[in-house]
Amino acid sequence: MNDAAQRRPRTPPEGGGSWSIRVGGIPIRIHFTFILLLLWFGAISASQGDGFFGGVVFLLLLFGCVVLHELGHATMARRFGVQTREIVLYPIGGVARLERIPSGKAELLIALAGPAVNLVLAGLLFGYLVVRQVRAPGSAEELLTGAPVVWQLLFANLVLFFFNLIPAFPMDGGRVLRATLSLAIGQDRATQIAATVGQGMAILFAMLAFFPPPIKPVLLLIAIFVFLGAGQEAAFQRGRTAVRGLTARAAMVTRFESLAPQDSLQRAAELLLATHQQDFPVIDAWGRVAGVLHRGALLTGLAGPGRDMAVLDLMDREPVAVDPETPLEEVLRLLQSRPAGPILVVDAEGLKGMITLENFGELIEVSQVLRRSQPST
Ligand SMILES: [Zn+2]
Repeated sequence: MNDAAQRRPRTPPEGGGSWSIRVGGIPIRIHFTFILLLLWFGAISASQGDGFFGGVVFLLLLFGCVVLHELGHATMARRFGVQTREIVLYPIGGVARLERIPSGKAELLIALAGPAVNLVLAGLLFGYLVVRQVRAPGSAEELLTGAPVVWQLLFANLVLFFFNLIPAFPMDGGRVLRATLSLAIGQDRATQIAATVGQGMAILFAMLAFFPPPIKPVLLLIAIFVFLGAGQEAAFQRGRTAVRGLTARAAMVTRFESLAPQDSLQRAAELLLATHQQDFPVIDAWGRVAGVLHRGALLTGLAGPGRDMAVLDLMDREPVAVDPETPLEEVLRLLQSRPAGPILVVDAEGLKGMITLENFGELIEVSQVLRRSQPST
């Protein structure tokens, strides 16, 4: 339904509390709360006399349309060279997590592609109803309760189309707004305006969720999701602005402890306790980077095989490494596509430094303070 969370670094690990299938090479994860929604919907449907499975089948078809909507985004994104990491289905809708969001016209077309799928689906369903001469429901009441499921699906697709185009950044309509504005006034101001409009819409959604009664929990969840999402997008854009023109060299930590491949986990555990470091580069006898030992792997190792095990056996052998002159915007993107560990900064001589999300955050804060203290001319 909406596509807010593509770039949150703190996404839950894949497979946690969810089931996964693949369509066209893209993993589609179904969050476990979605199954609860199915059961709840079935129970409501049964209590209204439509039968348990009637409600469940409608909901599955509806979420089939949501998946097609997300695949619409994914297909258009692929045309611009952007891969989709996964599609996740939550009770309040779907999220296509793109590896990055391009700006300008590409963002506009990717955002429009999802709702466009719902419009096409509505058209196809309408064609089917006309050909089969299925009688239209006489009232809204009938549409929602007693109408044939194809009519209900047609209505649902129109709702998905219009709802997603509400300019509530980071929902599709908000992205359309941001992308359109950015063509005229640049990405920074466009994002701040779209985020402000999005948060205003979120407050409106929240009010509508309570008045008129009864309380509409789904709308309330969407309101919270939009409000937080818009704030995060604005912060992310400020971060990007802050690091523009800087390279990896400016953000890297240059004082850190490293391990040798033969060091024991005991030694690694001592370093973990003695420093603020979470991840330790592993340097071989020739001064080359052999890997990175992550805190999680270290703790798992200590709990299992024990403290005498060699670091070599538990380290990540394919750490992400960049050149000191890599633009920081690129580093930020890498950090967020691999939330698990640090980015190593390596040149011809060997390891120069490390960048983590934490010290990246510090760099952004420092440069914002500096920027504020220097009056712009
Ligand atoms: Zn969408």
